[in-house]
Amino acid sequence: RIILAFESSADETSVAIVQNGRKILSLEIATQIKSHQRFGGIVPEVASRHHIEQITVLVDAALTDANLTYDDLTAVAVTYGPGLVGALLVGVTAAKTIAWAHRLPLVPVIHMEGHISAAQFVEPIAYPALALMVSGGHTEFVYMPDEYQYQVVGDTRDDAVGESYDKVGRTMGLNYPAGKTLDEMAHRGHARYDLPRALMHDDRLDFSFSGLKSAVINLKHNAEQRDEPLNADDLAASFQAAVLDVLLTKTQQALQQYPAKTFILAGGVAANQGLREGLTQLLQDFPTTNFVPVPRELAGDNAAMVGAAGDIAYRHGKRSEWDLNARPGEEFEYLDAEMEFKVP
Ligand code: ATP
Ligand code: FE
Ligand code: MG
Repeated sequence: RIILAFESSADETSVAIVQNGRKILSLEIATQIKSHQRFGGIVPEVASRHHIEQITVLVDAALTDANLTYDDLTAVAVTYGPGLVGALLVGVTAAKTIAWAHRLPLVPVIHMEGHISAAQFVEPIAYPALALMVSGGHTEFVYMPDEYQYQVVGDTRDDAVGESYDKVGRTMGLNYPAGKTLDEMAHRGHARYDLPRALMHDDRLDFSFSGLKSAVINLKHNAEQRDEPLNADDLAASFQAAVLDVLLTKTQQALQQYPAKTFILAGGVAANQGLREGLTQLLQDFPTTNFVPVPRELAGDNAAMVGAAGDIAYRHGKRSEWDLNARPGEEFEYLDAEMEFKVP
């Protein structure tokens, strides 16, 4: 099976060709970060325009790099949600057009299915699996009793962790997105400022990160009033320590509640060095669980992950009609803690 895959949900236009869900034959990514940076976040209209300019160029490049033609393709997969509606529409329209013109099946993919399925580029996933999906828009535990079954068992009540990195970075005067910079600063600094760890001792697997951003703002404000400037590296280290404390504590709880053969770390924040190290350490207490972090270079948005997810969906018979539309608010099913649930 050879799948042509599209990703255009936010500020990365990407096209990839993936073989059997596990081998990247080509991967093209055009990032728009520079165009959005001066606004401190993604401007939807700007994003759509960049996607339109790039997408056909990237399809040609993906076929050329893989040394393939449309005749070699088995199916076309595309992220149809969640994300910015105008941005998603560019990928969906391109995928539909190519699938229609070349009589190929069209396979719809949810963006987080993509992030999680990128773990397949490391090794085949053994189920049941549990994923910590951490990105700019999501912070959730996704339980997969079996392949192609996704259930959210814990979620953030406000900000996503990546969003929290970006907002804290902004108050510190760092460029958007700030995750990578703060991660590097944190490794140089010492965690000597006290910051809150919301919901850490709560039994549920939910998160709350919005208080952390406010606490950082207060800390800065108070320091300025006293004329004692904060050390930026130490602030980054304190912020990251609070985030990791919460993520690691919740992961331990999640693995106890949902024993899994595989634990996947996915999403843009999966690139975080401190988080990868912390989880590697934590997973030593779970000898029957295999830790599979998505490779750092595939943790952010890309179409290869959509190809991996598309291959799974394709094998499970998932197909779209020609009226497939962008769904900006699409999410996995949330499994309520009160609901009856059997762990196999
Ligand atoms: P979603 O996947 O929820 O739709 P998104 O696609 O916008 O959101 P991603 O592109 O998956 O998000 O991830 C981007 C986020 O990851 C940004 O918030 C960025 O700051 C964060 N990030 C990237 N690298 C790191 C890092 N090393 N440490 C912490 N955060 C990071
Ligand atoms: Fe993403
Ligand atoms: Mg992104």
